[in-house]
Amino acid sequence: MNLVDSFGRLHDNLRISVTDRCNIRCFYCMPEAGVKFQPHDQILRFEEIERFVRVAVTLGVRKVRVTGGEPLVRKDLPVLIRKLAAIEGVQDLALTTNGVLLGEQARALYDAGLRRINVHLDTLDRERFKQITRRDDLAKVLEAIEICRELGYGPIKINAVAVKNLVEADIVPLARFGRERGIEIRYIEFMPLDAQNLWDRGRVLLAEDIIAMLEREIGPLEEIAGGDPRAPATEYRFADGIGRVGFIASVSRPFCLNCNRIRLTADGKLRYCLFAIEETDVRSILRGGSDEDLRAAIRANVSAKWLGHEINSTQFVPPPRPMYSIGG
Ligand code: SAM
Ligand code: SF4
Repeated sequence: MNLVDSFGRLHDNLRISVTDRCNIRCFYCMPEAGVKFQPHDQILRFEEIERFVRVAVTLGVRKVRVTGGEPLVRKDLPVLIRKLAAIEGVQDLALTTNGVLLGEQARALYDAGLRRINVHLDTLDRERFKQITRRDDLAKVLEAIEICRELGYGPIKINAVAVKNLVEADIVPLARFGRERGIEIRYIEFMPLDAQNLWDRGRVLLAEDIIAMLEREIGPLEEIAGGDPRAPATEYRFADGIGRVGFIASVSRPFCLNCNRIRLTADGKLRYCLFAIEETDVRSILRGGSDEDLRAAIRANVSAKWLGHEINSTQFVPPPRPMYSIGG
């Protein structure tokens, strides 16, 4: 039986965090210092993740995205990718990465069966990259993107977090970069998932403002109709036929009504929403329970899913875990 929640939403999309560690420190996700990471024995082993996915597939999961923290700091990630790519029923396997270690691992990941990749990149400006990530790694990310193109990855997408009074000057150069390379830029509205409570509505660069900038500087955008209605991004193509952009407008246009996602944290907690307060411990089942126990736990988590997050309401309570520890 498939995973349908009490609002009739079908869940076939699983995001798996493989680590809460990261090699950079984006200010809207991780504090610069003093981060407490999960001890190794609390983190799911590859065999446990593989078993989880095998069971989830029997419940209708078809899309799997590997994320983190930074997934490429997890040792031997291609070994996991190979295991997941081999699972019958996984129709779509993707990775989200900050790209810093991607150049060195792109070939091994490709050989393991990975084709779809999202690289997180907010700016093409070295100083702003340093300001956002507190690291000087822009050149490595750009090189990795070229390596992935040469290897034949596709689609390659870029995730750019849109923070007001910070990245305005990056919006158009990123779109041009994407247009020149056949890469879709996905602008993601800054969400209240940082570890230090820096977020407020006034710091969100809204999708409509980005659209206005792109249309003013590059040319008209046309919304692409007929895409997957459950995909979080609203997609547009440039009217001149060159390139497309997407918007993950979680703040200004929440897409909860179409949500099809569940999330497995690196320490084996199942979450029905990025912003969920409650979570289901599946690690204990993976370490001592049956597949049937696991199925029951996944079903129960999905059944308990709320209608949607309340970022836009005064009732909003930020989740107890920041982004890097949930898996974005
Ligand atoms: N380290 C990888 C990366 O940066 O892509 C994977 C994990 S990261 C948590 C996943 C995505 O979350 C990133 O691509 C970034 O775009 C997004 N992200 C992180 N913090 C965010 C925030 N506060 N608001 C919106 N998006 C955020
Ligand atoms: Fe690391 Fe990704 Fe968080 Fe940036 S957004 S600190 S790259 S986990």
